[in-house]
Formats: sequence, C-alpha cells, structure tokens
Amino acid sequence: MCVTDNSEERLSIVQLNSELRHAELELLSAHCATYKLRLRFSAEHLARYGRRDVLRKSIETASALNEYYSSIEKQIVDEEAPPATPAGLTEKQIQQAIECVSSWLQAQRDYHLPSAAPLSQEHRQLMSPYFPADLLDNVRFVELHGARLPNPPFYAEAKAHGFVNLPDIAHMNSMTFLDVLVFNEKLTERSLFHALVHAVQFWVLGVDRYTELFVRNFVNTRFHFLVPVEAHAFLLESKFVRPAGEKFSVEDQVRLWAKQNRY
Ligand SMILES: [Zn+2]
Repeated sequence: MCVTDNSEERLSIVQLNSELRHAELELLSAHCATYKLRLRFSAEHLARYGRRDVLRKSIETASALNEYYSSIEKQIVDEEAPPATPAGLTEKQIQQAIECVSSWLQAQRDYHLPSAAPLSQEHRQLMSPYFPADLLDNVRFVELHGARLPNPPFYAEAKAHGFVNLPDIAHMNSMTFLDVLVFNEKLTERSLFHALVHAVQFWVLGVDRYTELFVRNFVNTRFHFLVPVEAHAFLLESKFVRPAGEKFSVEDQVRLWAKQNRY
C-alpha cells in the first residue's frame, strides 16, 4: 500500500476499509447461518431434499466469493514486505507509549489554553446541528498561522522502535488536545468540523481510553488515518462537506461506534 499525503486518496483508503469491514461482518453472518445448517442437516440430506434453485444459487455465490478472496490472498503473499512496525512490542512498552501520549496531550492542552479563544457566534451556529451546545460553548481554539506544532519529544524513541509512519504533526491541519483545538494554519469550516469530532471522542471516551485505543490501533494498522478514531473523523468530515448533505449528531455517531466496539 502506498502512503500518501493526498487527502482524497487517504479518504478513499478509509472508505475502502470501512466497506471491507462491512463485507466481513456480512460474510461472518453468512458463515454462521451455514454453520447452523451444517449442524442440523447432513450434506447428503441437503443435496437430496434442498430446493435445487436455492442450493445452486448458494453454491454459485460461495464459489464466486472463494475465487475473489483467493485472488486477493495471492496478492497479499506477493506484496508482503518485511514488517515495518515493531515486532514483539511488549505489553509494558505499549503501556508506556499510552502514558507518554496521554501526558503529552494533557501538557499541550495546558500549554495552549491560556492563548485559546472561544468559538465565534458564527462558527457555533454553523456547527450547532452536529455538536452539543455545551461542547461548542466549552471548546477553545488557537490558530498558529503557519508557526506549526512541533512533533512530540517521544517521536525519536518511537522511530527507533520501528514506527516509521508516525503522523507528522507539522503537516496536519489541526490537533485536538481534549477541549483545545490547535490549527497549524487558519481554522476552516472543514478543519473545525474534523477537530470537533475528536473533541467529542475525548468527551465520550475520556482521554485515557481515547489514547489507549489510538496507540493500540496504531501499532496494529501502521497508519494513523486507519486508526478507527481517526478514520471515523474522516468519514464524518466527508459527510459534512457533501453538498446538501443531511444534518446528523456527531455525539450519537461516536456513542454508537463506542457501543459497537468499533473504536
Ligand atoms: Zn484527525
């Protein structure tokens, strides 16, 4: 897979993985239904008494799926490169990484808070169909106008452990430090929406859970935009910018994903 800074391409990779996950869940459900059938009836009975048209259609679908996924499997084997992420990271090291990231988020929040401002009335109004009024009243934001956030001090050590795809903070539009949103350039409607989604995630999950989910999933996926808290922000952002798109509650979406263990 190629790593890209192109946001359209990033979004399509996020969508690809979301649809892949959907297909996986549907397949599991088909697998489960077939397993039940198998437990109750022998293959011989099904062949003899099952409706021919239904059996033929099921066999055709299963064969086509097998063929399709096998062709993908061949490419995985062909393209598989040596793992770029740390092999055998211990649970203790993961815990340390979680603590590091969590303290950094908290420290950055405290550092930027004194220079941060409340959202303008105009921005609050624009975001009110999507976000709770409490949250919009309480968040603060800072625009760095190109001064840009530095990468965290623990990056050097993380890179030494094999984390080669760490998100480059200086090239991101924004970072959300709990309830403080920092924009590397100017705040735009789209970047404000994205940063607010993360603020809702911090609010619903809490900083410890958010950080734990982020770090563990980053270790597994290798790309920060595939980490579910990030992927969800990209998906909701793409819904927000859709012309004449429907209004929706980000808090409901975040609570749903949390409840369904999708983070
Ligand atoms: Zn983000």
